[in-house]
Amino acid sequence: MAAMSLSTPAPTDSATPIPVTVAMGDGIGPEIMTQTLRILAAAGVPLAPEFIEVGERQYHAGHTSGIAPEAWDSLQRTGVLLKAPITTPLGGGYKSLNVTLRKTLGLYANVRPNRSLFPAVATRFPDLDVVIIRENEEDLYAGIEHQQTPDVVQCLKLVSRTGCEKIVRYAFEYARQHGRRKVTCMTKDNIMKLTDGLFHRVFMEIGEQYPDIEQDHQIIDIGAARLADTPERYDVVVTLNLYGDIISDIVAQVAGSVGLAGSANIGAGGALFEAIHGSAPDIAGQDMANPSGLLQAALLMLRHVGQHQHALRIENAWLRTLEDGLHTADIYREGTSRERVGTTAFADAVIERL
Ligand code: NAD
Repeated sequence: MAAMSLSTPAPTDSATPIPVTVAMGDGIGPEIMTQTLRILAAAGVPLAPEFIEVGERQYHAGHTSGIAPEAWDSLQRTGVLLKAPITTPLGGGYKSLNVTLRKTLGLYANVRPNRSLFPAVATRFPDLDVVIIRENEEDLYAGIEHQQTPDVVQCLKLVSRTGCEKIVRYAFEYARQHGRRKVTCMTKDNIMKLTDGLFHRVFMEIGEQYPDIEQDHQIIDIGAARLADTPERYDVVVTLNLYGDIISDIVAQVAGSVGLAGSANIGAGGALFEAIHGSAPDIAGQDMANPSGLLQAALLMLRHVGQHQHALRIENAWLRTLEDGLHTADIYREGTSRERVGTTAFADAVIERL
């Protein structure tokens, strides 16, 4: 798998079945994955899914990383994982499966595109079109936490030059290959002068090799405030792991709903595609969840494996469904929406429009 997988469209999609690993997840995961796979099958996408189980049941079966050892064989075979959200048990003794997958597969780049679908989906920001590129392996998510004394705990913030270089270069290459005009770096290097300072410095250094791309830097707190207030002023944003996690939820929510956005996790050892939201236990099992975030992740996956025509056809059917006002509860608004639909009916509507 190419580390810098920003492939150009092939003239026609290959009809050879593509092996992908699929994890149904927890909470709303099985509902939205079932509907996403139905849409892909109805569109005739030649997928050869291998199902693995991750999440709550694996934690309860005693696998503290949330994944059974044999599931790694499938991941090694396919190099591509489409994953529904999982519920992460709170408290000690458990490692986050998401962190384990990212570190084991070397998934250093988390790419989260967000764009306004106005007027189909209500938002205060009709011109929003922002891609968050988040460093995915380091920072406070490196999983280095210590109990120092019974009352004092420590979490280490790890930032390496190599890690900064990989993600910053990825962001500039992404901007170039996707016709984006500007990359904004967000850090807190007025306070964390060494860690965030290194990220900022690498951004300035590598930026010199991309004179065709406009570039600037903002402190993360004012950057987050402006993303929530005037997101149309941003194009591509590159930032550290924790900040990226937070601001991508902000941007997805102000674009319409966290239920609309998908993400790609790209690295040398494979690629993982998932919705940006969690397992939403509050609405699980009620056929209420918006499957769009996972469907968007699936479209990123199809483009990653060269299925550009299928991706475009499904995306158009999805957009027509939203334009026709068939909306799940999270994006349903009087005046904008025509009918409130459940997860299954939404997928039915997308399939009818293929
Ligand atoms: P969440 O994203 O699951 O839910 C936040 C809110 O958004 C809830 O009100 C929920 O109903 C709503 N929502 C989320 N997705 C939606 C959708 N598709 N359609 C409609 N509404 C939707 O966040 P949370 O409640 O903080 O976390 C729940 C669990 O998910 C936790 O165990 C958390 O650790 C886990 N989580 C997993 C992932 C992942 O697997 N990648 C990511 C984030 C959180």
